[in-house]
Parts: sequence; C-alpha cells; structure tokens
Amino acid sequence: MKMSKMYMPTLREVPAEAEIPSHQLLLRAGMMRKLVSGVYTYLPLGYKVIRKVEQICREEMDAAGSQEFLLSALQPKELWEASGRWENFGPEMWKVIDRNEREFCLGPTHEEYFTSVIKDEIKSYKQLPLNIYQIQTKYRDEKRPRFGLMRGREFIMKDAYSFDVDEEGLKKSYQVMWDAYDKIFTRLKLRYKVVQGDTGAMGGKVSHEFTAMSEVGEGLIAYCDHCDYAATDEKAEVVYRVEENSLEMLEMEKVHTPDVKTIEELNEFLSMEKSEFGKALVYMAAGKPVVAIIPGDRELNEVKLANYLGIGGHELELADESVIKDITGANKGFTGPVGLSKKARLLVDSRITKMKNIVVGGNETDYHLKNVNYGRDFNGEIVDDLLLVMEGDICPKCDASLKMDRGIEVGNIFQLGTKYSDSLGAKFLDENGKEKSFVMGSYGVGVTRSVAAIVEQYHDDNGIIWPLVVAPYHVIITIVNIKNEEQISLGEKLYNELTKQGYEVLLDDRNERVGVKFKDRDLIGIPIRVTVGKLAGENIVEYSLRSSDDKTEINADTVKDLVLDEFVKAGFK
Ligand code: ATP
Ligand code: MG
Repeated sequence: MKMSKMYMPTLREVPAEAEIPSHQLLLRAGMMRKLVSGVYTYLPLGYKVIRKVEQICREEMDAAGSQEFLLSALQPKELWEASGRWENFGPEMWKVIDRNEREFCLGPTHEEYFTSVIKDEIKSYKQLPLNIYQIQTKYRDEKRPRFGLMRGREFIMKDAYSFDVDEEGLKKSYQVMWDAYDKIFTRLKLRYKVVQGDTGAMGGKVSHEFTAMSEVGEGLIAYCDHCDYAATDEKAEVVYRVEENSLEMLEMEKVHTPDVKTIEELNEFLSMEKSEFGKALVYMAAGKPVVAIIPGDRELNEVKLANYLGIGGHELELADESVIKDITGANKGFTGPVGLSKKARLLVDSRITKMKNIVVGGNETDYHLKNVNYGRDFNGEIVDDLLLVMEGDICPKCDASLKMDRGIEVGNIFQLGTKYSDSLGAKFLDENGKEKSFVMGSYGVGVTRSVAAIVEQYHDDNGIIWPLVVAPYHVIITIVNIKNEEQISLGEKLYNELTKQGYEVLLDDRNERVGVKFKDRDLIGIPIRVTVGKLAGENIVEYSLRSSDDKTEINADTVKDLVLDEFVKAGFK
C-alpha cells in the first residue's frame, strides 16, 4: 500500500478521553475512532490487525476440530426466557423491539441460540462430541464502558460451544479448547496466565480465564509461585486461620464509641487489633436487606456473596442509610449482629464463629459491643467463605503465600453442564436409546480486547510495537526525499519485490518532512523498517526493527533475506 493513498489519520496529541496506552495509541495511530461510548469504528489499519487476530483464532479452532458458523446478533426473547436469562442477565442485555412490538436482544453471548440451532438436528450420541464456533459482534450495555477496545458495548468475540454425551466427554472437550487457547494466545505473543474463574450467572462449576498480564488490567489475580494455583480475586478461596485459643467467653459489654464508625477509627479508639473486630456490611440483595459479618481485618467478596444468595452481581448493592437505620435502629457505622431486625438475613463468615470475644457494632448510634461470641450472643446462616483474597494469604493448595497481579481477561472457558440443554429441551438418544440432555461447554476469546492487550504489552513512548504475526503491515519503506528520483526508484523497486514475495508492505511516498514520516512509522508500529535516503544511488539503505534501537546500512539486495529471517524467527510457517 502506498501511504500517499492510505486512510491513516494519525494524531499528534493524546485524546483527552483516553486513559490507558492501548486506548490512546489505537486512536493516535489512526486505527479506530469512537462513535459513542463503548462503540468504535475500525479504520483500515486497525481492522487489518483485528482480522489477523480473528484468523489466528479461526486456524486454531479449525485445527482443534471445531466448525465455523455465523449466527445473527438479533435473538428473540423467547430463547432467553427459556433459560431464565431474559430476566437474570441484567441491565447489560441490550433489548430491542421490532415494528410488531416483538422483543429481541442484541446477543451478549450465544449459549441459548447455538443450543437451539443444534436441537432437533443432532439426534444421536453417534454425532457427538460436537464443537462449533463463530467470530461475531457482541453487544453488552456495560455499566462502565471504558479503556477503548478493552471494555466496549459492541465488541468482537470468538465464541465456541461443545456438546457431549456426558461429563467425562465434556472434560475432554474442555481440555481440547484449553489447548487451543494456549496456542492462540501464544501465537498472539501475549504473556498470560490461566487462572480459575468464577462461573457466576453462566452456570456450571468449572471455569478458567486466560489473563494477559498488564498493570492496567481490570482483573486481579492471586497466584502461587510454589505450586500452580492461580485464581481471579472473585474466585480465590481464602484460607484465614483463626488462632484456636482457650479464652473464656467474657461477659458482653456495651462501650460508648461516639462518632467511631470505621474499623480504622475503632482500631485507634479501642487500641485493639482489626482482627478482633467483626465487620458488618448491609446490602440490598435483589431488593431484600442482607447483613454479612466478616473478620474486621478483611474485605468482603461480593461475587461470593451474590453466588451464595443465588443472585446476579447486578442485583447486589450496598444499602443506603435509610435501610441501615430501618434494620439496625442506628446510623451507619454501628451495625452489628446482636439484636438485628428480623427483616434482614444475617450471613456469618465461618471464621467469625471461631473468633472469641469480638467487638461489633451495637445497633445503637455511638455504641459498640465488646466480648461478643457467636452461638451465645447471636446466630445466623454460616457461610463458608465470604472473604476477598489478599496478597500474602495462604495458598489453598500448598500453604505458601499468595501473590497478586493485574491482568486483562482475554479468554474464558466454562464447563456448563446441562443448564441450557435442559431448559431448552435439547436432547439426544444415547447408546441404549434413552433420551439425554447434551452436556455443554462454552468458550470465548475477546478478539478486540486481545488487540488492546497486545498493545498494552507491546508499546513504548513513541507508539505501538506490533508483533509480526498481527502487524497490519510487515514492512515499511520510507522514502526520505520524494523529490529525489534515485530514492523513489529504489524505494519502489524494493516495494514491488517484497510485495511480490507475499509480504505486506507500506511505501511511505508522502510529500511530508522525514521527521513526520519517522514519527508516524513509530506510532503505527510496523515491525520491519527500510529507509531509502542519501545513499540510494549506491544501492544502500538503512534497515532497522521497530523493537530495537539498532540501525544498519545494508545493500538493498539483502533486504529480502533479512525480512525472511524475521519471519523465520517469528515462527511463521
Ligand atoms: P468481564 O469480566 O471482563 O466483563 P466476562 O466474564 O463478562 O468479562 P465473557 O462473558 O466470558 O466475559 O466473554 C468472553 C470474552 O469476551 C472475555 O474473556 C473477554 O475477552 C471478552 N469480553 C467480554 N466483555 C467484553 C467487553 N465489554 N468488551 C470487550 N471484550 C469483552
Ligand atoms: Mg462482563
């Protein structure tokens, strides 16, 4: 492509709306533009990268035996009513109506739809296992669309679904997809970790997330260096040991704690450790008040709470003052488990039941209670684990201490079981002629989010540094002075030769200052660079890589060998 003809509106200034490097650089490099919040127009350079990521997904899915479909983004309400997700999916679902008032959604995901497609057409165990996928545009009306391609309201996903005769078959299909995802993200050159994920509203018990490591990632993961344990902060099991002590239960005591509302303030006021307090939090869960009590030195994990209550995360929110007052009789900051209104469910983290003589809110403004003990002073529903993991926690697998890191969830795999096949009546006949529900898995790769993740991992102050496999073009040839015939003719000769050999090449033949050309070439991040300048008459050009500061002057005839070397190094077949 000759750059004099190319649609490539690069920007010198960092757009004010963009906070993280990938968002800034994809806009500045003229790869995309915003239409409205969370919705983007992909420009030619950006779309080329997206298509390369799609193609890598496609190749690895095909190699894993999956078959490509393309389903509609529009899905009728009835499908989602059958699974119960029309109600439960929450406000992220983008609902639309047609001229006859029939309701649809713009698909946020396609479990129901794919299940309905194969239902009645796949009838026998002999046709299983079946694995099918698509690469398609998804719609989710995200609460906080942000960071450009990272969290859009419209985005491209590769989604796949497996159908098996039983759980054992599902486990095999799951492993096949896990391996395919390893290949995809390795080919995309992402540094990533596979971590246990929460299954939440999706259904099923087992899920893993493929997380590209990045300090701007929205996901927090806990992992162990001594064993292979790794999980999202939502999922990570918390090992919290309460010292078994032989302390006698002391007499409960009311203490005057004027204006002491937070655990920090209490810590100072009473000069006691935070771990000697019980922290009570009041939530509205699907419209009903719930109080949860956990050790004072910990944070509550809202995903674990929502899962225990069997509700979606969007149905859970911290209660406001008026609710707190109604169920405790006190202002915020003085909630405790003793003498709560029966209107609220009281959930007790199991560790609280082992702690002796704790301090809790007194359910009376400006008062706390000391020496409170579970069983004697209050009772509630004991929940095994409501705690959010912390750096330094004990690894649930090997007892070493956990580390925390940030990452971007680029892929997610789920063992779903029969949630969707049961609810949609998708059955097959087994070996004995008995009807059974398909045992399903579902598997997603965020295609556009992966593009953002690659930019996060591959950039510097001057722009993007695309890995060769996903670069919009492989080589950029810069003609320093387009008034110079020798430079033009050598530049065009190299351009034609390399293009003929199948490389994707840009020729910067624009009538621009060389400084502008160099800035643009850094910004758009083309991996291999050839500069045709003063020595063109002697058939000498400058050769360099975007990823390195080294520059060498070489005979123009050797360019093709060096380019080939880069392709071999990058593992192209
Ligand atoms: P998140 O926790 O980030 O909201 P999710 O668990 O909702 O992600 P899935 O439903 O598993 O995501 O979707 C599969 C993949 O699609 C994700 O792993 C992610 O890469 C991508 N994805 C999900 N939501 C978005 C979004 N709003 N914008 C871009 N990509 C997304
Ligand atoms: Mg989401």
